[in-house]
Amino acid sequence: AKGCGKNVFALFDKKMNEHASERVTFLADLRQAVELEQFVLHYQPKVDLLTGKVTSVEALVRWMHPRLGMLAPDRFIRLAEEGGMIAELTEWVMRTACLQAKAWQEADLAPVRVAVNLSPFHFQRQDVKQSVCAVLGETGLDPSLLEIEITESALMQNDEYTCRVLSELREMGVTISVDDFGTGYSSLSYLHRFPINTLKIDRTFILNMTKSSEDQAIVTAIIAMAKSLKMQIVAEGVESVEQLETLKDQGCHEIQGFLVSRPVNAERVARFFTDEDHL
Ligand code: C2E
Ligand code: CA
Ligand code: CA
Ligand code: CA
Repeated sequence: AKGCGKNVFALFDKKMNEHASERVTFLADLRQAVELEQFVLHYQPKVDLLTGKVTSVEALVRWMHPRLGMLAPDRFIRLAEEGGMIAELTEWVMRTACLQAKAWQEADLAPVRVAVNLSPFHFQRQDVKQSVCAVLGETGLDPSLLEIEITESALMQNDEYTCRVLSELREMGVTISVDDFGTGYSSLSYLHRFPINTLKIDRTFILNMTKSSEDQAIVTAIIAMAKSLKMQIVAEGVESVEQLETLKDQGCHEIQGFLVSRPVNAERVARFFTDEDHL
């Protein structure tokens, strides 16, 4: 039994080492990927519930890993933050998204905004305004066609600094959205202090809304609060017609989710930029 225990530890040790060395390799891969720009953006439309037209598209990054194939952001964003590569990755995402939006505009497709996710980690540590200015200058995109998504939890850190940076971006004409809303604990009076255009209700509430009266009540309260603050309201993760109908009844402005489209490449998302009703 004694020997057995020892083997277990030896095995555990070996696994730990493998795990650690896998992580080191993966980090090195990611560092190289940032250098070689081994990423693509997929885009997911947000649709206006009254007109059925696309208002903006969210850019979602994927890593084209040479051995592992296409990897979702949940597999590498944290690592990019910890490895000090998030600013560079975000700039690549912003530049690529802005160039794409500019190309759509020049192709005379309807003017849709492109939304980029900002990591809270990046937001608190780097000069985000400087990056946004640089990318807008370089790509020549009208700032009104760029939207920034920042999570509710990021809003609640270092609030004076956050408020100042967001105000500067807003003054430039950039749209500010609060992502994953409802998961933090911001109050009406707190939100009011920030120059926010849009609240995006977190997917978990939409998921449970038609089954749980508590989640339904939360969605109702968020919509009422956003309206009293004159903010636009987007429901994310809408997958069913039942959810769509409930949100319509509640007076939600826009939806985003698999019901309309999964995130797809630039070419495929552009098919949504028509005058048609996409609901
Ligand atoms: P998010 O910003 O909340 O993005 C929405 C996520 O929900 C996307 O996952 C999207 O594919 C998924 N989704 C959309 N509609 C539905 C639906 O109807 N049902 C379900 N089940 N899921 C839906 P994705 O692309 O895997 O991205 C995950 C997260 O990774 C994003 O969450 C965002 O926080 C982060 N992320 C993505 N791209 C970037 C980026 O360029 N920079 C940073 N910092 N974070 C990013
Ligand atoms: Ca987002
Ligand atoms: Ca979200
Ligand atoms: Ca319709």
